[in-house]
Amino acid sequence: ATPMSIMVATGKGAGMGVLFRNAEAIETLRKIDLLVVDKTGTLTLGEPKLTGVMPAAGMDERRLLTLAGSLEQGSEHPLAAALVAGARERGVALVEAQDFTSHTGKGVSGRVDGVEVLLGNAKLLDDFAIDTAALAERARQRREEGQTVIFVAADGRLAGLLAVSDPIKDTTPAAITQLHDEGIRIVMLTGDNRATAEAVGKKLGIDDIVAEVLPDEKAAVVGRYQQEGHRVAMAGDGINDAPALAKADVGIAMGTGTDVAMESAGVTLVKGDLTGIVRARKLSRATMANIR
Ligand code: ADP
Ligand code: MG
Repeated sequence: ATPMSIMVATGKGAGMGVLFRNAEAIETLRKIDLLVVDKTGTLTLGEPKLTGVMPAAGMDERRLLTLAGSLEQGSEHPLAAALVAGARERGVALVEAQDFTSHTGKGVSGRVDGVEVLLGNAKLLDDFAIDTAALAERARQRREEGQTVIFVAADGRLAGLLAVSDPIKDTTPAAITQLHDEGIRIVMLTGDNRATAEAVGKKLGIDDIVAEVLPDEKAAVVGRYQQEGHRVAMAGDGINDAPALAKADVGIAMGTGTDVAMESAGVTLVKGDLTGIVRARKLSRATMANIR
């Protein structure tokens, strides 16, 4: 495309909340046949809310919330914010935690009130040989509803389960329908549990789901689809997504997400509205048509 047509497209894009980093992003967008999309904060609002507090035998709700909420004050994960806010809203006083440790893609651990607390997904509790069977059925039910389940252990024993729900963005279903109409295959990529991811994916009509992915594996998933011959766009919002955004043929960042994601992407959707991809592709086609 000519510099002039690129300039025009850039200006038009900005007017509709789609920021192009460069000419290459505009040129490549029309050629993609597959969109890999992060779940939390991209398909969903990324503002999870605490929806269930289920203590194990011998534990009570308030104690469980004190242990979990206090520890999560040290984490920057959106799930941590949900637990801290959820505890406070229920009038639970939080204390300062010691020895805070983050287990990337799995959860956190530390000491609260002299108790060793471990909190996160099933993988994390498994790593520490803590049996979650007593709450497995409750976990299954919540996941089936698309909720995320967080296990809590105290001094090496299961203390309870916390359920968190992150609503789907209003604009997501329309974006998926429109992209499908254009023949684009949609793959959900998430660190979340498979059952939770599948419930959300089913509701949205997502074609493929890659769940329980560790942050440093996301780029490899994009690479795998490229090796299969796909032209891949990747949409995401987190620091975790940055390498995958850079690896994709076009990276698409949510303007509502982290700066690192936007710096790694060719396109930024200012309001995090995925229907912007469809508008951006229209511009991409129009711009490239101009030069012929
Ligand atoms: P995602 O945000 O896509 O779910 P992450 O890699 O950030 O991916 O996290 C993967 C999983 O690890 C989360 O779904 C959650 O189960 C668990 N996890 C990570 N950090 C925390 C935390 N601070 N509190 C609770 N759970 C966590
Ligand atoms: Mg995310």
